[in-house]
Amino acid sequence: MSYEAVIGLEVHVQLKTQSKIFCSCATEFGAEPNTNVCPVCLGYPGVMPVMNAEAVRKTILTGLLIGCEIARFSKWDRKNYYYPDMPKNYQISQYDLPLCTGGKVPVPGKTIGVTRIHLEEDVAKNTHFDTNSGVDFNRAGTPLMEIVSEPDMRTPDDAFAYLTALKEMLVTAGVSDCDMEKGQLRCDCNVSVRPVGQKEFGEKIEIKNMNTISGVRRALAYEIERQTVALQRGEKLQQETRRWDDEAGKTSVMRTKEYAHDYRYFPEPDLMPVTVDDAMLAEIRKLIPELPEAKRQRFIQQYGLPEYDAGVLVADAAVAKFYDEAAGQSKNPKAISNWVMTELLPKFGESKITPAQLAELVALIEGGQISGKIGKEVFAEMFATGKAPAVIVKEKGLVQVSDTGAIEAFADQAIAGNAKSVADFKAGNKAALNALVGQVMKLSKGKANPKLVSEILTRKLG
Ligand code: ADP
Ligand code: ZN
Ligand code: MG
Repeated sequence: MSYEAVIGLEVHVQLKTQSKIFCSCATEFGAEPNTNVCPVCLGYPGVMPVMNAEAVRKTILTGLLIGCEIARFSKWDRKNYYYPDMPKNYQISQYDLPLCTGGKVPVPGKTIGVTRIHLEEDVAKNTHFDTNSGVDFNRAGTPLMEIVSEPDMRTPDDAFAYLTALKEMLVTAGVSDCDMEKGQLRCDCNVSVRPVGQKEFGEKIEIKNMNTISGVRRALAYEIERQTVALQRGEKLQQETRRWDDEAGKTSVMRTKEYAHDYRYFPEPDLMPVTVDDAMLAEIRKLIPELPEAKRQRFIQQYGLPEYDAGVLVADAAVAKFYDEAAGQSKNPKAISNWVMTELLPKFGESKITPAQLAELVALIEGGQISGKIGKEVFAEMFATGKAPAVIVKEKGLVQVSDTGAIEAFADQAIAGNAKSVADFKAGNKAALNALVGQVMKLSKGKANPKLVSEILTRKLG
């Protein structure tokens, strides 16, 4: 019998806000442990949380990006549990009334449903040393958005594509930097296996706290194989939580169903419910950026680019922005694309060229003021110094020679010094002209207009 996997992800994303969700402590990463803390995020008794409106806006923006329904009324709840990462013994979260519900994330070939998005506070980070453990409260109170997917994925590649698409969206919109090494994007993977054709889902296994997208793919592949083999042997699987060991390439049991938590959720009495009105939604709508796929389509339409070029340019947001500005000022957007893709892309970060300058360089070449070859020389100088191309051309005396008198003289010189090429050409070997053109270009130090050179040589020889 063949089996298929069913996968649903719970993704936690730290929002890119200056301050924490219920106090004014900084959210910066990498500070000395327990320096960005106050009584609120340390969980002292009796303190009052104050909601960070920016965290709510970024969550709603995410909902809009994913096509969710935005709740006009949502509230906060206490999720009760006892563990050293949360000394007040409850995490403020959203239970039955999340900010966003229902939505879709497109991945190549399908869409993955999103069940809900809610906002909560991140908890402190425990670090285990040889003989003791440390708790760092800098992370506690960082705004944390949880995005719960529908069980719509069927393969580890689906999960990989979903996380990649989500990350791209959130980074583009400035919702989060999604730097997984800094723990800004973490994910729990739910996976079950069922015989192909069976409607009901199998028993769900949850793999907790994944912190790389490639790790998610590996862990799911391992777990699907493990569950499939177990079912084929006639074993019964039961709902449980497992952890992934990336070095060993294995999952192991953390807890089974009987030890599942009962969080005894109840409404948070110290925070007002969140109400969202039309004006607020309209303001947040204005923050929706053009997403990469839409931008790709626009580049193809607006600039007449081949699909390939558009895909390459859009892959990096900064490169796409540069291209967009340069192409917008040029009569030849395809030439701009060629320059960006071949010359600029490999070391984009080091370039001092502005979009307007690149458009100007292309115009100089198109207008015949400089040759394409000199263009490369000018480009290199622009790249290093940030000078305008016209200035470089002037300073270095690189203006293309279109003065026929000067070219005629070079042509005579080339003809006189290359009897063999001349004879070949006269004998009908048209390619021999190239050698003579090359000679003239050399004599002119690359500055002769190649089109004129060919014309003049042909006339003189023919
Ligand atoms: P819980 O109440 O245990 O948190 P949920 O129903 O909220 O479970 O689902 C959590 C996640 O698990 C969601 O992303 C959901 O799509 C996924 N999921 C639910 N059932 C299954 C299943 N049988 N197999 C795989 N994923 C599942
Ligand atoms: Zn604080
Ligand atoms: Mg759940």
